[in-house]
Amino acid sequence: MRDDRELIYLDGNSLGPLPVRSQARIAEVVDQDWGVGLVRSWKNWVGLPRQAGDMLAEHLLGAARGQVLVADSVTVNLYKLASAALDAQRGRDVIITDDDNFPTDRYVLQGIAAQRGCELRLLHSDIDEGLSAHTLAEALDDRVALVSLSHVAYRSGALVNMAELTDLVHRAGALTIWDLCHAVGSVPVELDAATADLAVGCTYKYVNAGPGSPAFLYVREELQNRLRQPIWGWFGQRDQFSMGPRYDPAPGIDAFATGTPQVIGTVAVEEGTRLLGEAGIDRLRAKSMALTSYLIGLADEWLTPHGFVLASPRAGQRRGGHVSLRHTEAFRISQALIREKVIGDYRTPGRLRLAPAPITTSFSDVWDALEKLRQIAADKSYDDLPTEPSVVT
Ligand SMILES: *Cc1c(COP(=O)(O)O)cnc(C)c1O
Repeated sequence: MRDDRELIYLDGNSLGPLPVRSQARIAEVVDQDWGVGLVRSWKNWVGLPRQAGDMLAEHLLGAARGQVLVADSVTVNLYKLASAALDAQRGRDVIITDDDNFPTDRYVLQGIAAQRGCELRLLHSDIDEGLSAHTLAEALDDRVALVSLSHVAYRSGALVNMAELTDLVHRAGALTIWDLCHAVGSVPVELDAATADLAVGCTYKYVNAGPGSPAFLYVREELQNRLRQPIWGWFGQRDQFSMGPRYDPAPGIDAFATGTPQVIGTVAVEEGTRLLGEAGIDRLRAKSMALTSYLIGLADEWLTPHGFVLASPRAGQRRGGHVSLRHTEAFRISQALIREKVIGDYRTPGRLRLAPAPITTSFSDVWDALEKLRQIAADKSYDDLPTEPSVVT
């Protein structure tokens, strides 16, 4: 990484590294567009959320233009889309998600269920293997309005088959919302081909757009004018600057915007997406599968004797871009590893997450990282470290 060639960064699924071109582009936007252009630059900025959305759609999401918008956070977008979907599904009062879905997803859905008096069905997922299609099929009936799932599980990296599960949900007459946070930029996503209804995702993980960069949302074209999102802001208004007396939503995906977009973050989404687009998501995925398989092979050989157990699916096509390893001392080992200049992260309960993002990680990085892990586990060199995680893990 920048200014530290020894550092091995395996945490790009939490915060992606800074692309060289993003730094230059952000500096230009700050110095010129903002610094010199001031408010006159808004004419170049208003189109950014759509423009960045179309780039994501084309390079990373398998979606035609006009269906993706960069806006808000994942949490807020999930609230917007889930609420809109429930309003469109009158007569149905059940929301489904799984008990291993990312916390913010479960909390937002709990909140929506409480506000509307809906039932939230929490399906059980194996925390290492992910949700089974069978479990979902069993839970579907004609009361179900909405099914909200992650494409790639945040802890284990388990990847579910989006087309297969979407089809199950549609047969029951329900709508899907896919959370793509750990999928976008790490696995090819085919939203249109899977006939996904709705999706949300972040851009600061594999898309490398920086801390707090805005999220995206996807609404399938034919649903856009049927769904109405709950936050009636002026950026979703038809003919926004006529400042009309009452809310009249813009046609298409623009109605899913809320307020003033985050310009600097959106520019970084464009640059991050451009970079992955140039590399090509299929080629990145091929390298990612080879990297994670290599990592698992070394872990089997070097780490199993020291108490590590694989906590991700073993089959490459069932795995996203990262691998989790279970160990009773996973937290202290993750801290000792950082001391050795290998950055992964810890996820409760007792898991070390390693994400060899293919855009920046080499096979020798994986070898070096696993060799250091083996040393740490063999020497118990984590013994002097505190056993409790700090605020941010
Ligand atoms: C990272 C992540 C989020 C984050 O949501 P924010 O609103 O950006 O904080 C949500 N869902 C999943 C599955 C994630 O991995």
